[in-house]
Amino acid sequence: MKNQAKNSLEKLKNSIANDEEEHGTEKYKCAKCRDVTYILTDDGAVPCSCKDIREAERILAKSGISKEFANKTFDNFDYARNMQVFNSYNMARQYVKDFESIKDNRKNSVIFMGSVGGGKSHLSFAIANELMKNGVGVIYMGYRDSIMKIKQNVMNMDVYEKIMNRYKECKVLLIDDLFKGNITSSDINIIFEIVNYRYFNNLAMIISTEKCGSELLEIDEAIGSRILEMTKDYGIELKGRKLNYRIYDN
Ligand SMILES: [Zn+2]
Repeated sequence: MKNQAKNSLEKLKNSIANDEEEHGTEKYKCAKCRDVTYILTDDGAVPCSCKDIREAERILAKSGISKEFANKTFDNFDYARNMQVFNSYNMARQYVKDFESIKDNRKNSVIFMGSVGGGKSHLSFAIANELMKNGVGVIYMGYRDSIMKIKQNVMNMDVYEKIMNRYKECKVLLIDDLFKGNITSSDINIIFEIVNYRYFNNLAMIISTEKCGSELLEIDEAIGSRILEMTKDYGIELKGRKLNYRIYDN
């Protein structure tokens, strides 16, 4: 039996060796860590630079929107619909360009507010896709589903903390459709905890919402004012079907 076990271990080793000879490291998304997301060192293991991206992909897959997400890029965005859509598009591209230099500042976030249509989600996803291409992990938070899940786990501290910490601490958080539907005081408390943490730690957010700036402030002044401050340089409020638009008053 012992020999047999030894033999199968040998076989396994050989097959791994063959595998590597035949395929090299090409089949891995990350050749550095071979998708383990950790790299072994003399002192133990250190996280690989791809770890945030893999985590972001896992969350997306779990949310069931990987495909939809990947399909929304700058290339297939119809920016010629009207002036304000065109301006949103330009602002989104500018944000991606500026991200490296602003990411640690307080005003490092972007928001698309206002009326339905106008491609708010599309542009948010396009930004996220570009950042991910550049190696920045963007954690997706579909507002309604995530809030529901958090509330369902409010008695289960381990799960609750795990979800909340992910949204609080990730490098970049994408909140899609913030404050959609009825808003309860516990919804506000949850969003406050996340936004407040990110505000004080200068952690970037990409936000889409049908609310406008004044509505955000009405819902909760502390949340609204923090979000508006963080998105002061990259905020757009889409209005009606007309061409009127404005970037924040300075
Ligand atoms: Zn890696």
